[in-house]
Amino acid sequence: MDNELRQAARDHLIRYGQGDIEKLYVSSKGATVRDDEGREILDFTSGQMCATLGHSHPAIVKAIQSGAEDRIHLFSGMIPEAVVKLAKKLSQWLPSPLSRSMFVNTGSESNEVALRMAKIVTGGYEVVALGGSWHGVTGQAAAASFASERRGYGPKVPGVSVIPEPYSYRCPIGHCRDNCDMSCMKAGLRMFDMASDGAPAAIIAEPILSAGGVLVPPEGYFKKLKEEAKTRGMMLIFDEAQTAFGRIGHKFAATQLDVIPDIMSVSKTLGGGIPLAATITSQEIEEKAHKKGFSYYTSHVSDPLPALAGLAVLETIEKENLIERASEMGGYLRSNLESLQQKYEAIGEIRGKGLLLGIDLVKDRETREPHIELGQITTKRCMELGLSMNIKNRPERGSVWRIAPPLTVTRQEIDRGTEILDLALRESLDELARTNA
Ligand code: PMP
Repeated sequence: MDNELRQAARDHLIRYGQGDIEKLYVSSKGATVRDDEGREILDFTSGQMCATLGHSHPAIVKAIQSGAEDRIHLFSGMIPEAVVKLAKKLSQWLPSPLSRSMFVNTGSESNEVALRMAKIVTGGYEVVALGGSWHGVTGQAAAASFASERRGYGPKVPGVSVIPEPYSYRCPIGHCRDNCDMSCMKAGLRMFDMASDGAPAAIIAEPILSAGGVLVPPEGYFKKLKEEAKTRGMMLIFDEAQTAFGRIGHKFAATQLDVIPDIMSVSKTLGGGIPLAATITSQEIEEKAHKKGFSYYTSHVSDPLPALAGLAVLETIEKENLIERASEMGGYLRSNLESLQQKYEAIGEIRGKGLLLGIDLVKDRETREPHIELGQITTKRCMELGLSMNIKNRPERGSVWRIAPPLTVTRQEIDRGTEILDLALRESLDELARTNA
């Protein structure tokens, strides 16, 4: 441990929401992260959901090394070979008619591109997004993100409406309990129609609302949403930042749902830890956008080095059968978590797909009141015991762990993580019982 460096972190870094800096991290490999005391921490968050193949997968390391010599960056108007190879490879993965891609850096950016494209093609500017959604922190992506983090930064891009999300465990309109009948969509779109200026452009949605609490919309939700978009002349955008490339046991949520959006954005997994994101659409929409003068010129659009990493990611998923593995390991992890649910009344619901799972913590299974305090202290205790867990603690939305280890995680690692979670939950509940006695 280097105390001076820890102090330098406190003295010289801007904190962006992660809390006080207590320690530093020195390396990450596979499903393990190592801190500055040499402790190994099991990573059930896949970094920021990007290390889907595990941290520093050898194939990604090799790809980066191969490009570092002479393929890092180019003038943005020059198209590198690696970018074309990646676009072609992606088109082989994608359901028809999605076949054209452009490559940017982050998930936020891929949604900026998607929304700009929808606006220029439709000629409208009105956007509908779901409550609890997270599409990023930049202009249009932030305007379409309905989490509490949107507060404090003044007016957003005009024209964005929110509709209530299909959160059947805690129905936002108090209509259903467990069986969402999609009244939320109907009510929300009715409000949108009433307020509309007559310039609709797009509906943007995560197929599984991840930051919103790992919400899985009911069967038929997206088919209906697509119809509703079409009726209004809007494009349907799927933000597949977290669902694409195998995590949910399918290539894309679009293929699993059999609903093909007009535009898809992907990020996170695509670069395997290197900043890489893509916006994808059909030939027809791309041609319309191009004719109308679509422009998105940035310093790092179409950079070759991230594209090499992207190619390695897709090839590795194929070679190591990681899509099937996500289903298998996801099933294994879920059954471990279900056995914890038998033990702990506080585990209200387990939801999600493949290796994108959520645990909703409650004070009481009947009232479903979120157990914020338990979420906080157990997450901290897990970390002390060597397990990194992502908690979304929002009083209005619940206390939900997103559990998403790399697709390469082993059964032993899943068992170890479950044991730590079990111990941390037991200790935390005991502590709460003592302090509240
Ligand atoms: N969309 C979704 C669904 C996300 O989860 C995120 C990031 N958490 C983003 C977009 C934004 O991606 P980035 O942070 O890479 O800009």
